[in-house]
Amino acid sequence: MDAFEVGDRVAVEPLYYCGECSRCTAGNYNTCSQIGFHGLMADGGMAEYTVVPVGMLHKLPDDFPLDLGALVEPMAVAYHAARLGDLSPGDTAIVFGAGPIGIGLWFALRGMGIDEVVVVEPSSERRDAIGNLGAHVLDPSSEDVIAVVIERTKGRGADAVFDAAGVPAAVATGLSCLAGRSPFVSVALYEKPIETPLINLILGESRIQGSMGYTSTDFEAVIELMAKGHYDTTGWVTTVPLSDVVDEGFDALRDGKKMKILVDPTS
Ligand SMILES: [Zn+2]
Repeated sequence: MDAFEVGDRVAVEPLYYCGECSRCTAGNYNTCSQIGFHGLMADGGMAEYTVVPVGMLHKLPDDFPLDLGALVEPMAVAYHAARLGDLSPGDTAIVFGAGPIGIGLWFALRGMGIDEVVVVEPSSERRDAIGNLGAHVLDPSSEDVIAVVIERTKGRGADAVFDAAGVPAAVATGLSCLAGRSPFVSVALYEKPIETPLINLILGESRIQGSMGYTSTDFEAVIELMAKGHYDTTGWVTTVPLSDVVDEGFDALRDGKKMKILVDPTS
């Protein structure tokens, strides 16, 4: 384990897990039956000081921008989901939803060498944000997503579909444009059960693949890509002072006016 010194830049991988259950011992501690998060189940997320086990720390390079350091965690969620897509260069991926996780999926997939990534997003603001980063975006309210995917893949369908939207329309469309024996990777929080056309899975021997959090592998991969300048925060990350966090942070997020908020505790 790395030694740490006062002043080191770090990213916190905030998972608590038992280390003893079958999932932990298999290496999948992100699915531990007693999973907990620092900042959710324990204080710390917005505290001036907090204490974490040293094993939660990932060292960042000395010149690593701290705003990116704070984004390692959400980008690791997306990176983990991207890995579960089992894609190779030359494959086609479809991402539903261009919120922070959808944007993170786009960066992660591109970082893995997947150049053909189509993002489906009904909000024009979100389409603009990810489109300006270079993504190919579709508006499902005016474009036939399935037809576009079938055409772009010469009839094969998407080699992986990622659901970062969590709405019935995304699931139905996603399952309808999946290639055979391919994963529909779910990294959304479904507020209630939705109808799922499972017949599309059976016909193509495809599968739904859940994605939960991340492991240290994802943290290290994201940190490495960020250190290379792979992640651009233009147009989707906003920094607000702690004094404005209710109006400019929580309320703005709830109203859909902002996408990802960084809180500056020094102002
Ligand atoms: Zn466990």
